[in-house]
Amino acid sequence: MDFKIKLSTPHMGGQELKYIQEAFDTNWIAPAGKNIGAFEQALEAYLGRGVYVAALSSGTAAIHLALILAGVKRGDEVICQSMTFVASANPILYQGAMPVFVDSESETWNMCPKHLERGIEDRIAKGKKPKAIIVVHIFGMPAKMDEILKVSQKYGIPLIEDAAEALGSKYKGQQCGTFGDFGILSFNGNKMITTSGGGALICKDEKLKQKAIFLATQAKDDALWYEHSEVGFNYRLSNISAGIGRGQMKVLCDYVEKRRANHQFYQQLFQSYDFIEVFSEPSLDCFSNYWLNCIQIHSNEANITPLGLLKYLKDHKIESKPIWKPLHLQTAFKGCSLYGNKVSKSIFEQGLCLPSGSNLSKTDKEFIVQVVLGYIT
Ligand SMILES: *Cc1c(COP(=O)(O)O)cnc(C)c1O
Repeated sequence: MDFKIKLSTPHMGGQELKYIQEAFDTNWIAPAGKNIGAFEQALEAYLGRGVYVAALSSGTAAIHLALILAGVKRGDEVICQSMTFVASANPILYQGAMPVFVDSESETWNMCPKHLERGIEDRIAKGKKPKAIIVVHIFGMPAKMDEILKVSQKYGIPLIEDAAEALGSKYKGQQCGTFGDFGILSFNGNKMITTSGGGALICKDEKLKQKAIFLATQAKDDALWYEHSEVGFNYRLSNISAGIGRGQMKVLCDYVEKRRANHQFYQQLFQSYDFIEVFSEPSLDCFSNYWLNCIQIHSNEANITPLGLLKYLKDHKIESKPIWKPLHLQTAFKGCSLYGNKVSKSIFEQGLCLPSGSNLSKTDKEFIVQVVLGYIT
């Protein structure tokens, strides 16, 4: 499908090619070179004090390494938010561990702290204490981190924060991704910034960052020959990709503002339609980057539905997407437990994500208004 207006696309800032050129000029085309360290430093400076960032080939790779560093092994159980993209949970299976899903609360759409605690209690009662918790800041909306952290600390279970969608989002003034024992970011093409494909692991300790880089570069021991005492991976970000990342870091602040302006736009568009709710910050604790703007359609009329709107927008070459289908409802995770109820399922059934790129133009917005009103009025 050839969409005229897409959900979220790469948006170059202008300086990316300069850093790529530098990589070519110095022939550092490999997953080594100046751009990688400089990109990591830029991320560390942006995220705030006390964090160490390892640039990796994807957000998925970052979650996999976080699980390994948290000590997750074959046969273990890992708690994961159900309302998320499949990449949050796939690495649990790569480790031969079993996901245990937790439902959302309706304010931030993220992991419900109460169901989390009930889930942990129940797994412990069944004789199996979970080895890690993966919480997500879905669509850039910060999860209830005070409550989640409290549970993680009470039971001594490492917390992995999936901030793939939440670069630039803050909870009580602190950057998402910096609360847990580990945080992860994604620089896939549709995210806040892109490296054409890439991710990062956020650590609280320089040694863990070095261990992550060791594992991401085939776990080569310190010897003159090839010596390996553990299993490694080929997960490092390339120096070319990191060059794009360096350029993108220059415009990140601006892009957060632009996506937040898109949110204002959708709030205005739907303000006089009380059957449509724009997913918004529930309190001043949450500062969302509004990576994607989502709506909930609470209409009783059979001819106004999320999928109806999706098809109507598609006919006018505007891309929209359903909310992530909860993972406990996916065949790939058949047999995994869910703690909670139907909150994520109902968000999925009533929701839709609308075009939200930082490069959405005034003309794009005018066309969206025209088409959306054509459907709902
Ligand atoms: C994009 C995304 C990931 C995976 O990131 P990749 O860089 O594409 O591997 C993980 N979790 C969530 C919630 C995401 O949206």
